[in-house]
Amino acid sequence: MKGRQLPGMVRVRGAREHNLKNVDLDIPRDALVVFTGVSGSGKSSLAFGTLYAEAQRRYLESVSPYARRLFHQMPVPQVDEIDGLPPAVALQQQRGSPTTRSSVGSVTTLSNSLRMLYSRAGDYPSGQELLYAESFSPNTPEGACPECHGLGRVYEVTERSMVPDDSLTIRERAVAAWPPAWHGQNLRDILVTLGYDVDTPWRDLPKKDRDWILYTEETPTVPVYAGLTPQETRQALRRKDPPSYQGTFTGARKYVLQTFANTESASMKKRVARYMVSNECPVCRGKRLRAESLSVTFAGHDITDISRLPLARLAQTMRPYADGSAKVSAKERAAHPEKLIVTQRIAQDVLARLDVLLDLGLGYLTLDRSTPTLSPGELQRLRLATQVRSNLFGVVYVLDEPSAGLHPADTVALLRAMDRLKASGNSLFVVEHALDVIRHADWIVDVGPAAGEGGGAVLYSGAPDGLRDVAASQTRRYLFPDAAPPARTVREPAGWLKLAGITRNNLHGLDAAFPLGVLTTVTGVSGSGKSSLVSQVLVELVGRALGHEVAAEPEEGDELDRPAELPLEGRIVAGLEQVRRMVRVDQKPIGRTPRSNLATYTGLFDHVRKLFAATKTAKARRYDAGRFSFNVAKGRCDNCEGEGFVMVELLFLPSVYAPCPVCAGARYNAKTLEVTYRERNIAEVLGMTVDAAWEFFADEPALHRALDVLREVGLGYLRLGQPATELSGGEAQRIKLATELQRASRGDTLYVLDEPTTGLHPADVERLIVQLQKLVDAGNTVVAVEHDMRVVAASDWVVDIGPGAGEEGGTVVAAGPPAQVARSKASRTAPYLRRFLG
Ligand code: ADP
Ligand code: ADP
Ligand code: ZN
Ligand code: ZN
Repeated sequence: MKGRQLPGMVRVRGAREHNLKNVDLDIPRDALVVFTGVSGSGKSSLAFGTLYAEAQRRYLESVSPYARRLFHQMPVPQVDEIDGLPPAVALQQQRGSPTTRSSVGSVTTLSNSLRMLYSRAGDYPSGQELLYAESFSPNTPEGACPECHGLGRVYEVTERSMVPDDSLTIRERAVAAWPPAWHGQNLRDILVTLGYDVDTPWRDLPKKDRDWILYTEETPTVPVYAGLTPQETRQALRRKDPPSYQGTFTGARKYVLQTFANTESASMKKRVARYMVSNECPVCRGKRLRAESLSVTFAGHDITDISRLPLARLAQTMRPYADGSAKVSAKERAAHPEKLIVTQRIAQDVLARLDVLLDLGLGYLTLDRSTPTLSPGELQRLRLATQVRSNLFGVVYVLDEPSAGLHPADTVALLRAMDRLKASGNSLFVVEHALDVIRHADWIVDVGPAAGEGGGAVLYSGAPDGLRDVAASQTRRYLFPDAAPPARTVREPAGWLKLAGITRNNLHGLDAAFPLGVLTTVTGVSGSGKSSLVSQVLVELVGRALGHEVAAEPEEGDELDRPAELPLEGRIVAGLEQVRRMVRVDQKPIGRTPRSNLATYTGLFDHVRKLFAATKTAKARRYDAGRFSFNVAKGRCDNCEGEGFVMVELLFLPSVYAPCPVCAGARYNAKTLEVTYRERNIAEVLGMTVDAAWEFFADEPALHRALDVLREVGLGYLRLGQPATELSGGEAQRIKLATELQRASRGDTLYVLDEPTTGLHPADVERLIVQLQKLVDAGNTVVAVEHDMRVVAASDWVVDIGPGAGEEGGTVVAAGPPAQVARSKASRTAPYLRRFLG
């Protein structure tokens, strides 16, 4: 057998990517293969880092260098040979945040179909010529509203936005929108020369003066006397003294709008955006299109309105056109027979694609929903749905935890979609933790036994049932449990945080109560309103009451994409006095550049640097702790400025990052690396995993404790210097959690978490539960949105939202201790929860 290719099998020999230990593996094609194992065991290194990377490499060799640039290329995998591998498509969870401006309609290409439909088969006002499909896109000159250029909003400045505090004088920077530092002073000095009063509170200045300073389009150039008082300036002007320089004035409005439109600096843009307000465009009323385009309708809707319907409603609207039952007058039928055929064709295609989306539980989304507001799981399912209709066959889809963000009831639909892909002749390689998905597999590859160095071996490869006999497998215990979970007593609430009149997304005037001093889980099918209630309204209301700035921070990236300020509807009616602090532990990246990493974020790098600065060599050379930071010039490698790698521009290929030739990726200069602490230099310490560092720093209590907590939340396999950009959302969330856990517990803190089990093996979930219980035992309150019934069963109180998604959800279906909610007839969560209760 050895060395021979089995029919219908993919054969891997000598896989050594990351922690893989020279792995040999044979897995079937045309099957659902699920890769299991604890976090960090090497599942992704096998499925993505080896199989997908190799498939992509082979494919890219066959395409033009130009096309190659369009791909995000994976590194060439460390593997001896792979045979029988079909071409691969990866559907991976987004790491970091998506930067492109896209919507549900564009990702699924349904928007294109609708534009075609409106162009060819829409109802035009009499006398209007047919429009091309592009005219229905706000991103083309043919379609965009001329007033707002297709943005739907117009950006302006107001006196209030530019002068937030009108009790200040100009000298005290009343005009906050003006540039900081020298440039701002210059503008003030020009006003002095022009005879304006810069020492009277803004609100007491004459309106004429205020208007001119803010809104003038004039840009007079006048002599400036830097450093002189207004009186001295007047004298100097009279004497015609030679000025310090000639200065040109710019009104505040002009400055803000010009800077916003023209600056290349993201931080400048962000700064001035703070002084702008946006309003719905008065011409298109936020619909982004020209009047002619909006005058064309289908089924009575203009194209913007139809894109705002939930997909389930859109499908209802399309169905009669697809099956030919829609009412069309005989006259119309006779006049435009070809239009009817076109309508039916497009409607059938749109409907078939919508049906897959509905089946995946996404019927509550709208086509105009922007993808950055979707959860990574929703986005992955959207992509999956698009693939199901793509009619590809003979490819392997490589998926990363497709059940993330899914209620167990939704997972059933997910499995159906995957079965459809398989039935059309494709293979599926899936990294998954959800037991429902693992049980559905044709073949399981269990990687482990532990994480990092302790993993990297294939413990089992075969049909699910055979895993029963593999003693080393951590997955086995959960797939084939031998005892019912122990019964537990729930904690009594120490009080109640009560919210009333909550209105947001699909919540309409909802009242909700969260018990204090206990662990609460919030459940419900995806789209039922859990995040709207918890991650949005609860966080914003409590944050506002505690004086945090929570909601205001705009996402990075294109400022114009920031969502319009949502009106906060709802209020806290009780319990606030028992909450002193709120901490949100979410999946947002901990940083967006490779300069932030696990060690810097958690603060443990500060300790490490102090240890290095306290060594004999460092003291003799007068190196302080700053010397050991790769963000500070004196200690880091000059060539790569502490990045460890440099970007290499290739003529016909995408630019690639290569290790810095000077420091070989170490990030520090040679002098700094000469300093060692227990025979390791600073770069070597950053290269250690948390597990290794935990042993290495066993004698340093503060460090040891911080590392201990990271291990407790299942992150022992991460390297200290692992850049923030390489971390998944779940890893980022657990790092935040660990950072919180290592702080002295103060009690009276409200912790808000959003699906903390994402990316966690059941064994890791158990450890996470222990940590959450510790937070509660220390007198804190934890509220977590969660789908993992193991966590729900371990909580003290459950708030079940639903019953359905979108407008079919948004109410509290059941609330109470897990055992009580599990008995609820109305709750879709109840049947799944019951299985986990003793
Ligand atoms: P899993 O998918 O099972 O959670 P991974 O395959 O992501 O595990 O990781 C396996 C090991 O490889 C871990 O020790 C991890 O830290 C390491 N690893 C993952 N990605 C990289 C990378 N880009 N560079 C170096 N090591 C990595
Ligand atoms: P869950 O957290 O239970 O999955 P959400 O609170 O995210 O549900 O969504 C509830 C409803 O609100 C859905 O219909 C969803 O499409 C809608 N929704 C959520 N976020 C937004 C948003 N940023 N913009 C518009 N609609 C949203
Ligand atoms: Zn407009
Ligand atoms: Zn370097």
